[in-house]
Amino acid sequence: MYLQRFRVVENQQVPVIILKELSFAVREFLLSYPTDGKHAFSPHSNEMACCLVRRNPRLLDLFPHRLFTRISMELRKDPITRSWVIIGDEAERQPQPGYCPFCPGSPNAPQVITTTNSSDGAVPVMAMVHPSPLYRIEGEPHRRAEGIYDAMNTVGAHEVLVQSIRHDMELWQSSDAEIAQFLLLAAQRIQDLKNDTRFKYVTMFKNYGPAAGQDFDHPVSEITATTFVPRRVLYELRASRDYYYDKERCVFCDTLNQELRHPLRIVETIGNYVALCPFASRMPYEIWIMPRKHESSFEHSILARTGGLNDLAALVRHTLQRVMSIAESFHMVLHTVPNTYQKSHTLQYWKTVDDDYHWHLEILPILSTRAKPYFLKEVYYTPISSEIAAERLKKLETR
Ligand SMILES: [Zn+2]
Ligand SMILES: [Zn+2]
Ligand SMILES: [Zn+2]
Repeated sequence: MYLQRFRVVENQQVPVIILKELSFAVREFLLSYPTDGKHAFSPHSNEMACCLVRRNPRLLDLFPHRLFTRISMELRKDPITRSWVIIGDEAERQPQPGYCPFCPGSPNAPQVITTTNSSDGAVPVMAMVHPSPLYRIEGEPHRRAEGIYDAMNTVGAHEVLVQSIRHDMELWQSSDAEIAQFLLLAAQRIQDLKNDTRFKYVTMFKNYGPAAGQDFDHPVSEITATTFVPRRVLYELRASRDYYYDKERCVFCDTLNQELRHPLRIVETIGNYVALCPFASRMPYEIWIMPRKHESSFEHSILARTGGLNDLAALVRHTLQRVMSIAESFHMVLHTVPNTYQKSHTLQYWKTVDDDYHWHLEILPILSTRAKPYFLKEVYYTPISSEIAAERLKKLETR
């Protein structure tokens, strides 16, 4: 009678039980099961059951399989590149058909985390739990070895930032006050999630358009908090740290200073913020937005309002308007400092990160939906140079 509360995962050889609501009787039963003494189990932990079943797959025979639902995901680390990969069951992430979950009064609205109150006449924006999250907030990462391999649970946070209560109002159609409000909400959520020391990295991103894997019709961005630093930003963090060790300067500041001296690749500057096409763009019309003055943390700067928040909002609006006149889809991702409350060994406790790293927004337009041949996946090929791209983007109308 307790077994319907079980959910089971099967990844090739090892069956893993995820205990959603572990009943007292089942917990007692599992606790009474002999362990090898190497693992400390909490009687409330899902991982306890996973470990037991990993080591004693026969335990599953005690339960009839037909009562179990197959779900779930885990993180696995590539032992060569040291990148984390989510391995899971795609069926878990199907969007639910029906009413838009983010429109006011929706019957299937997800849980609201926070709502900002309107200022300057802007409508409120809110953060909600992602209806089919990649990462879940409950539990411990329970990092474990499987021989030479590393795996851990997909513990983290996955939130949706509802940029507007209007279903048809995207960021680039909004007022600066509304965009500023959205940026403030993003900064608040990142800051708040960083208080959770399980998380090493928190970021915000937006997928827009069919070729960008947009999940919802409603204008939203997403936030993820992870127990690891994602690959691309980890490269950047390591490289910025190494550059700083050599030169005692921030590589982003150095780049920006050089770009501003010969503004071939600068698209627009508003106040403290610059939009530019990077020298080695990965795709045509790739644009980065960054503060001119050195700032490592997006959330600190936004919350302390060190730059002009409305200047940043205006630059985001203009830049996205430009992108939308050349592409139907784009990715936008925020790169900011990792969680420095999390004393990570990977980057030597992030010792110089406030001096060596510089936050920025990367916008990657998607021009072609044609599949790329294999070598272009290993080496980026950009058929339009950053200089031409900047020149064309500059000339596009903004409102
Ligand atoms: Zn909607
Ligand atoms: Zn800098
Ligand atoms: Zn970056």
